[in-house]
Amino acid sequence: MASKQYEIIVIGSGPAGESAAMNAAKSKHSIAMICDKPKLGGNSAYHGTIPSKALRNSVRQFLDLHNNPMFRDLAEVGKIGFETIIKHAEKAVEEHLSMNAVAFDGYNRVF
Ligand SMILES: Cc1cc2nc3c(=O)[nH]c(=O)nc-3n(C[C@H](O)[C@H](O)[C@H](O)COP(=O)(O)OP(=O)(O)OC[C@H]3O[C@@H](n4cnc5c(N)ncnc54)[C@H](O)[C@@H]3O)c2cc1C
Repeated sequence: MASKQYEIIVIGSGPAGESAAMNAAKSKHSIAMICDKPKLGGNSAYHGTIPSKALRNSVRQFLDLHNNPMFRDLAEVGKIGFETIIKHAEKAVEEHLSMNAVAFDGYNRVF
C-alpha cells in the first residue's frame, strides 16, 4: 500500500475540524482529515445544526403552504404528513453532506 505524508492531520470533520483544515489549506499546508463517519461534516451535519435546521425549514414550508389561501385547499396539500416533512429534511441533509465533500476534496484540496 502506497504511503503519503502530510504536514497536518485533523481528527474529526465537524465545524472545528473543518475550520482548522480550511485555514491550514489556505496557508498551503498539506492536510489529511480523519473522520469516523461515512461523509465529512461531523456531528453537526449528522445530528446537530444541519438536521435540526433542515427540519425547522421543512416545517416552516409546510406551515406556509397550509396558511396560504391559494394552496391550502388543494387535495395534494392535505396529503402532506409528518413522514413527508421528515423525508424532505433528510434530503436536505444528504445534499449538505454531498456539498461538503466537494468543498473539502475538490476546492480546498483537503484529503
Ligand atoms: C440539535 C442540535 C442543534 C444544534 N444547532 C446548532 C446551531 O444552530 N448553530 C450552532 O452553531 N450550533 C448548533 N449546535 C451545536 C453544534 O452541533 C456543535 O457546536 C458542533 O457540532 C461542534 O462542532 P465540533 O467540530 O466541535 O464537533 P462535532 O460536530 O461533534 O464533530 C466532531 C467529529 O469528530 C468525530 N471524532 C471524535 N473523535 C474522533 C476520533 N478519535 N477519530 C475520528 N473521528 C472522531 C466525531 O464523531 C464527530 O463526527 C447544535 C447541536 C445540536 C445537538
